[in-house]
Amino acid sequence: MSPVIYPTTNFTAIEQLCLTRGEGIYVYDADGNKYIEGLASLWCTSLGYSNTEVIEAITEQLNTLPFSHTFGGKTHPTIMALADKLRTMVPVEDAYFFFGNSGSDANDSHYKMLRYYFNAIGKPEKRKIITRERGYHGVTVAAGSLTTLPANLAHFDAPVEALGVLRTDSPHYYSNRKGNETEAQFVDRIIQSLEDQILAEDPDTIAAMIVEPITGASGVIVPPEGYYEKLQAVLRKYDILVWADEVITGFGRTGNDFGCTTMGIKPNLMTFAKQLSSAYYPISAAVIPGWMYQAMIEQTNQVGVFGHGFTYSGHPVACAAALKTLEIYERDNLFAHAAEVGDYLQAQLREAFTDHPLVGEVRGKGLIAALELVSNKTTGASFDKGIAGATAQRLCQDNGLLLRAVAGNAIALCPPLIITRDEIDALMGKLKAAIDGTY
Ligand code: PLP
Repeated sequence: MSPVIYPTTNFTAIEQLCLTRGEGIYVYDADGNKYIEGLASLWCTSLGYSNTEVIEAITEQLNTLPFSHTFGGKTHPTIMALADKLRTMVPVEDAYFFFGNSGSDANDSHYKMLRYYFNAIGKPEKRKIITRERGYHGVTVAAGSLTTLPANLAHFDAPVEALGVLRTDSPHYYSNRKGNETEAQFVDRIIQSLEDQILAEDPDTIAAMIVEPITGASGVIVPPEGYYEKLQAVLRKYDILVWADEVITGFGRTGNDFGCTTMGIKPNLMTFAKQLSSAYYPISAAVIPGWMYQAMIEQTNQVGVFGHGFTYSGHPVACAAALKTLEIYERDNLFAHAAEVGDYLQAQLREAFTDHPLVGEVRGKGLIAALELVSNKTTGASFDKGIAGATAQRLCQDNGLLLRAVAGNAIALCPPLIITRDEIDALMGKLKAAIDGTY
């Protein structure tokens, strides 16, 4: 066994699959077995595995300026072109972009920029961040403290309280409803509970609330109708900023440009990564509105510099990969394609699994979905220790389909945006066989 510490891994069960190449939506292992990448690797390879245009853009950048840092405002054409392009796309007014390398660091950057901003405008006490149960925002110290999944917190002693992280309910109606509560009653209850919490904490101490428009890693949770409208009304009432973590939902995944568009969110701040470059090169962005940037300028004069940045912030090769990826999304109408084949995928999943005895809930939007595997369809009781999820994941793999069991017994789907209807049919055949075999 090689001396690698694998991320997010049970160390007693490693090196079970060694992938050696990819093409389109498929990957191949060392023995030549072919798999559909049903989760776009880790929710990111939107253009699939053999996009020669992105590879050429990367190669050209490597041949011209393979690296230049961006500290002190040293710049290069590719980072400026990328920021200009993104500004035309994001639903944040007069947007400015801080580039990094991962979703986690983008969220950490925002955590720090919020403090910097509120210090700059003389409100240092406005610093707490609200996050939701079952939220996944990464694993660095601040982002990891905003993440609420048990495995990401257990035994790491995350400084959740010291960092001013507040938790509120997950908007998952299926698992969190009480008795005969309707969706509307459920929404009213959890929004009221949030408002009570804000008042108890003192709104003047709360800077922002972070939300994944559709939560991904904790099992693809699509909040009920009306949830975001009511949530935003409460946050605006108390002058709390809306921070959309679009690391998974950004760039076409939900059938629109951003998950915010799909879910009716008007964000003040955004973070994204993954599909920004279709994973051909690591890159992330933390997005702030112009009014926040203007306030921060004054502060840099007082302190001397904005003392936050990574060696690879705005890496030219990453920016070239992202720029070409965005160009392809636009030219090939891939967000509209994702909406169309996404509707097809959702319909196929519902047709195949709504009445399946092992499936408690089929959920999702666009090209992101999950099946909740349950031991009792009537009560929704779950299997112990993610046993059904793990079995289904293994059977999928045996059938040539790579998916992930997340949050215990949810099987998550998130195929590359380029997937076709025929390929969805092939995926569905493999998935159906695997779920039928999971008993
Ligand atoms: N935010 C969300 C919503 C994510 O799903 C993820 C990763 O899956 C992250 C942040 C962290 O991104 P990374 O793994 O690139 O640090």
